Amino acid sequence: MTFYDEIGQHSWQVIEQEILDRSPADVERALSSSTPGMEGFISLMSPAADRMIEEIAQRAQLITEQRFGRVIGLYAPLYVSNSCTNSCVYCSFNADNPISRLTLSVEQARAEGAYLHEQGFRHVLLVSGEDQNAAGLDYLKAVVKGLRPLFDSISIEIYPMDTDDYGELARSGVDGLIIYQETYNPDRYKEVHPAGRKKDYRWRLETPETGGKAGFRRIGIGSLLGLSDWRIEGVYLALHARYLMRRYWRSQITISFPRLRPAVGGYCPPCPVSDRDLVHMMTALRVFLPDAGLLLSTRESPHLRNHMIPLGVTSMSAGSKTDPGGYTHDSGTEGQFEISDHRSPHEIAQTIRDHGYEPVWKDWDSSFIV
Ligand code: SF4
Repeated sequence: MTFYDEIGQHSWQVIEQEILDRSPADVERALSSSTPGMEGFISLMSPAADRMIEEIAQRAQLITEQRFGRVIGLYAPLYVSNSCTNSCVYCSFNADNPISRLTLSVEQARAEGAYLHEQGFRHVLLVSGEDQNAAGLDYLKAVVKGLRPLFDSISIEIYPMDTDDYGELARSGVDGLIIYQETYNPDRYKEVHPAGRKKDYRWRLETPETGGKAGFRRIGIGSLLGLSDWRIEGVYLALHARYLMRRYWRSQITISFPRLRPAVGGYCPPCPVSDRDLVHMMTALRVFLPDAGLLLSTRESPHLRNHMIPLGVTSMSAGSKTDPGGYTHDSGTEGQFEISDHRSPHEIAQTIRDHGYEPVWKDWDSSFIV
């Protein structure tokens, strides 16, 4: 039994109808409960809750302070390759897009890491397109080996692997895995992933569990917001996170909220998500999942990110570049998507302090492993 089997018990149409049927009284009941549960969460995500977003945000703020204190972790993505065999219609790295392809050498990746280390980062997220010929297991292990002296925590956002390969990366020093389903709607999934291995919805859906079996300390999931109705996506995300928390309780489960940004190919989001919708979704998820890490990247504007500092976020990327080699030189190629927050890591750290929170560059040390 995997999450694929569980999700089969929750049809998209039934969840949509449940969301639409909720009343303001349902929302009030969910807000007055210390454990709203899935029924309460559906109420919090409903249109009936739109007028109570302030109350949801206040709850989210209180819960986050109780569980995490007033801290925000900082991390940076390090893109090692934009080579990809998939054709995701929303992504600049889509194999069909005529961009120049680049995979960093191990030395170049280390130079990018040294730059980020100099900026203060101790948590890095290695990112690559899905191309095992360009960025295979041995290459990734060599990159991780080069970065280990610079970073206390190394996460990966690469391509789905099997348990053995993930295990090898974990033993090399990778402690976190990020893998987004992009959309839980199987029809939309098929439409936006027309070619390549990523076409396989089930394989992707089960990959976070593979990461759990491999022993990653942190596992991150997320929906690419704008592909389908954010309220229903939010419910599936919550189901998925709850499933992983129950089965892989040794791992911290995190949720990211990547909202579609302009990219090569000019894909237009079929279901745009407003700032208000995003705040609604994040704060409702915080109320439902008090212990989940919530991540907000530089896809979002400085204004929105500042606003979210007290409302449930636990980690933020900063100073990001989304092209391989982009930190240390002009790579001459496209980024994966456009960044919206261009502030430097130190400006963002200062903004966090100005809000009465502490920026945390390091929240993990591998010597904790016994
Ligand atoms: S989203 Fe990932 S898998 Fe899809 S084209 Fe972009 S890099 Fe490749």
